[in-house]
Amino acid sequence: MRCFSCHRLSISVICQTCKERLFRPTIKKREIGLLEVYSFYPYSTIESLLLLKHKPQGHRVFTYLAQITFKPFIQAFMSQDPRDIAIIGIDEKVKKGYSHVACLSKEMQTPYSHPQHASLLSQNSIKYAGKSRKYRENNPRNFLYSGKENISAILIDDIITTGSTLSQAYKLLQKHNVDVDFALVLADVSE
Ligand SMILES: [Zn+2]
Repeated sequence: MRCFSCHRLSISVICQTCKERLFRPTIKKREIGLLEVYSFYPYSTIESLLLLKHKPQGHRVFTYLAQITFKPFIQAFMSQDPRDIAIIGIDEKVKKGYSHVACLSKEMQTPYSHPQHASLLSQNSIKYAGKSRKYRENNPRNFLYSGKENISAILIDDIITTGSTLSQAYKLLQKHNVDVDFALVLADVSE
């Protein structure tokens, strides 16, 4: 296949050169209320790759990005603190034949961490892109949770902008006695 970044022939979705020069993750922590959110890239670094979520081939790119970020992170975390924990992706609805968030959460399976797919879905799919924090608060996602109660969990999404979506998800999960340790996202838009 060809590298999605430089179009040279590559055995992987992104070639080794592009991975090392362009897509080396740098972990950054941000706090949204009581929720700690870890991101791996500034948004501008992987914007062109994230926009592939609107295309069928985005499936391979999201899986690849999860393999070089979320996967080593959760493996290291679980080796330090082994206990059962659920992986909850935000709004794992299927578009273009796959859910881009499920591509991310699927890679977080370990002997202790278990993806709980499509258990947190929004009732309001209004687009937040480019909208203010106030607009987002006035048009809440209205999440519905259908997963297990009284568990620990890690929240997963592709990007964080104002943190409004993650904050709404966190508050709903608290009502179901889901103890969210932290959230992981690929990219932070507010660089
Ligand atoms: Zn390349």
